[in-house]
Amino acid sequence: MKAARVRAARGRSTHVLWQTQPIAAAIYNTHVPILSATLRCPSCGHAALLTMPEEACQRFYQCEQCGHWMRPKPGDCCVFCSYGDVPCPPKQRAARSRSKDKRGQ
Ligand SMILES: [Zn+2]
Repeated sequence: MKAARVRAARGRSTHVLWQTQPIAAAIYNTHVPILSATLRCPSCGHAALLTMPEEACQRFYQCEQCGHWMRPKPGDCCVFCSYGDVPCPPKQRAARSRSKDKRGQ
């Protein structure tokens, strides 16, 4: 009985990865852009933890599980903005300076 409860708790903790709220808070509170993002394939749902280039946008990424080529959705600059749990570093910087402007007014 006890063992089953522990296993259930562990199962729940893996979902923390997909809660975007703490990550968003981290983006606004730190001056260093987050460089690792989990990219989720829209075709098969496979999640891959990747490191983002800090000064560039990665426009294409091939899913290692099903071979699907991810490309940015219209209006997005890179695959991380479209399919990742963290926006790309250039966007993180832009969002930070925008939120600072708003607070200053
Ligand atoms: Zn896939």
